[in-house]
Amino acid sequence: AKERGKNNFRFYSSNLNGIPIRKMELENGLRKALEQNQFMLFYQPQVKLTTGEIVGIEALIRWQHPGHGFIAPAEFIPLAEETGLIVPIGKWILRKACEQMKAWQNAGFPHIPVAVNVSVRQFQDEHLIDYISGILDQVGLEAKYLELEITESIMQNIEKSTIILNQLKEIGVLLSVDDFGTGYSSLSYLKHLPIDKIKIDKSFVDDIVYHSNQGMMVKTIIDMGLNLQFVVIAEGIETEEQVNFLKQNKCEIGQGYFYSQPLPDMQMKEFLRVHQSA
Ligand code: C2E
Ligand code: CA
Ligand code: CA
Ligand code: CA
Repeated sequence: AKERGKNNFRFYSSNLNGIPIRKMELENGLRKALEQNQFMLFYQPQVKLTTGEIVGIEALIRWQHPGHGFIAPAEFIPLAEETGLIVPIGKWILRKACEQMKAWQNAGFPHIPVAVNVSVRQFQDEHLIDYISGILDQVGLEAKYLELEITESIMQNIEKSTIILNQLKEIGVLLSVDDFGTGYSSLSYLKHLPIDKIKIDKSFVDDIVYHSNQGMMVKTIIDMGLNLQFVVIAEGIETEEQVNFLKQNKCEIGQGYFYSQPLPDMQMKEFLRVHQSA
């Protein structure tokens, strides 16, 4: 709740791309955006650090607003969460991501998972499990190619979350903990949950330099994560120095501008093509 409060505050007191915009206007805009198909997904590759092989793709939402241009998720996801609109928007995201991954698979690209961010608010929706298994059925995507990124904030309601996570695991989707290290949980908490993967938050990756405290922190998270048999991925990688540090400390997967920015579907396809033949 601390994190969200901060976001909301920032949101209400700021402008959108320099243009002042009222909360109600944005809320109405969000409703319209869904009806009028103004949302898009961008895709960012996840790369095996030792080989450069693409092992996954994260889907990230963008809003193409007719008057304001591209709006970043940080500007509207907090309001979507607050108003509950994240539930229908989240359904759209899940369906779109599954359809896109199925289309890439059909086009002959590697069968790898697509990771979708799932808000706490979506977790409180009792229909989530049925909705997800319904989509997988309709799209014809195997559950192991859908990964759900959750944040540590779901630990606030550990009993309920454990039940839901176990149900999701039963369907066969992959579960990863996003922004790891910034929130409420410890790794020892996570070992009781059916989690497959932890994503080390960008803020830790940002200033890892050899022998720094931050570097030690990242090394500790990787060591403990691997010991608990999680796949460990580092996000927000921008430099070769970070890649080398992470490789040396046995982190397996990375994501960040160093490899690629999030790309629209056509460019992602091109990226996959180039890396397939490389
Ligand atoms: P996140 O899930 O932690 O996503 C990573 C964010 O870092 C993305 O920003 C991505 O574009 C950015 N990023 C990736 N690599 C680098 C890098 O090397 N350097 C820098 N500076 N940034 C990098 P984005 O797309 O603006 O998303 C921001 C946040 O909004 C996400 O953080 C996530 O919390 C939320 N979000 C994005 N898409 C969705 C969505 O489809 N559903 C939900 N519920 N939340 C979303
Ligand atoms: Ca994420
Ligand atoms: Ca993240
Ligand atoms: Ca983040």
